[in-house]
Amino acid sequence: MQVFEFETVVIGSGLAGLSAAYHSSKYGKVAVVTKSQLDISNSYYAQGGIAAVISEDDSTEFHINDTSEAGRGLCDIDAVEVLVNEGRERVLELIDLGMEFDKKDGQLVLGLEGGHHQRRILHAGGDATGKVLTSFMLQKVKEQPTIKSFENVTAIKLIQQCDCIVALHAYDFVSKENIIFKTKAVIIATGGLSRIFLRSTNPYTATGDGIAMAYEAGAKIADLEFIQFHPTALFAPGKEAYLISEAVRGEGAWLLNEKGERFMKEIHPLAELAPGCCCFNIFKQLQKAKPTTFIFH
Ligand SMILES: Cc1cc2nc3c(=O)[nH]c(=O)nc-3n(C[C@H](O)[C@H](O)[C@H](O)COP(=O)(O)OP(=O)(O)OC[C@H]3O[C@@H](n4cnc5c(N)ncnc54)[C@H](O)[C@@H]3O)c2cc1C
Repeated sequence: MQVFEFETVVIGSGLAGLSAAYHSSKYGKVAVVTKSQLDISNSYYAQGGIAAVISEDDSTEFHINDTSEAGRGLCDIDAVEVLVNEGRERVLELIDLGMEFDKKDGQLVLGLEGGHHQRRILHAGGDATGKVLTSFMLQKVKEQPTIKSFENVTAIKLIQQCDCIVALHAYDFVSKENIIFKTKAVIIATGGLSRIFLRSTNPYTATGDGIAMAYEAGAKIADLEFIQFHPTALFAPGKEAYLISEAVRGEGAWLLNEKGERFMKEIHPLAELAPGCCCFNIFKQLQKAKPTTFIFH
């Protein structure tokens, strides 16, 4: 068994993990522990972009309203305010760090997507926002001499002493060795759990490990029923599901059922721009409609 010591251990190399590692590196040595390669994450796969109030025609109030509406009144308003207000600050911080979002004539290009009534989606590399942004943060992390990455190492258990987390038990898939990371702080950034479903647009690592580890260590967990689904994915028997970007609907594409009929107008007032998340009702109706095709008009 190997034993290491770091001030901070970050589990996960998605955007949350990489950002946490980058910022914690100012305070001491950081380990980034990731189950697969550094670039296997939902963050890397994300396509559509990041919503932030940038345009002068937009306001944080509009964004809060759209978010609450998409959450069908079930959102925790404090969390929505953090998302809208601090989200904007984080985007501006990324731009300051050197991240390049798509521009036209020197101005940021703002797209429209499901659930939004305003153009507020920033993209990078067109529909490769997640890849471009995660690669950017990965480069920032690699440049920090105080950060060490451990690929193909899965976190297994948080080790407690007197009600404090003092270490992480992990397993190296390559050397087949157990590893103990002694640490003052563990940041869990292991993302979601959608890969527990038969068909998913998520990478195979998204199995909710962090939620399970935190629960095992005594954390209270909540709202597990809120799982985002992508209403538009490419289905090819025996192959991985592949997201057909929401931006396609944002730019005016229609969804057609197997009879070639447009059906979303009967399901939701926003039609093809209905929010994909948190809405089991829409999910059930989409299952019935069996969407098969996109048409551009
Ligand atoms: C196809 C797709 C498109 C999307 N498009 C958008 C979009 O346009 N806009 C938007 O805002 N959001 C989008 N999302 C959602 C967005 O990607 C996620 O909400 C966000 O990336 C989550 O970031 P994260 O860092 O928390 O988790 P992730 O990016 O999922 O990172 C989790 C990390 O933890 C690692 N990990 C998991 N378990 C362990 C373990 N036991 N030990 C060690 N490491 C572990 C994983 O390997 C991974 O590196 C999309 C998601 C997908 C799948």
